[in-house]
Amino acid sequence: MSRRKLLRKIITPPTIKGIAVFGPLRKKSEKIRLFLEEYEAIRLLDFENMNQEEAAIHMEVSRPTLTRIYENARKKVAQSLIGGIDMVISGGEYLFDESWYRCESCKANFNIFTEKEHCCPICKTTEIMTLNEYYS
Ligand SMILES: [Zn+2]
Repeated sequence: MSRRKLLRKIITPPTIKGIAVFGPLRKKSEKIRLFLEEYEAIRLLDFENMNQEEAAIHMEVSRPTLTRIYENARKKVAQSLIGGIDMVISGGEYLFDESWYRCESCKANFNIFTEKEHCCPICKTTEIMTLNEYYS
């Protein structure tokens, strides 16, 4: 019997959907897929300057799992940077900390949501989607 894989918790969703390489050596036909939990590991460790112990607690994973996620993330970033390959943030085994939504009109991410106001808190459009749909 296989053990069910636990989902990695993500506190702050990415504000972008990827990074595009520019320059003549850009490999247009390839794309590197950075999983959302890999993005989160880089955010917590390299941007928020947490240590691996703290980041593992935030993502609700074991320390070795966090290390593995982070190593994969760094390899992908290096492949993108050195190899000149675009990187898209998509998929993975993650769970958002809260129910996040994205406005299709003004592109804002938000998590304030009531059944009464089924619209974007910034531009008031009703064209919204869950972030899970956006990053799938
Ligand atoms: Zn909006």
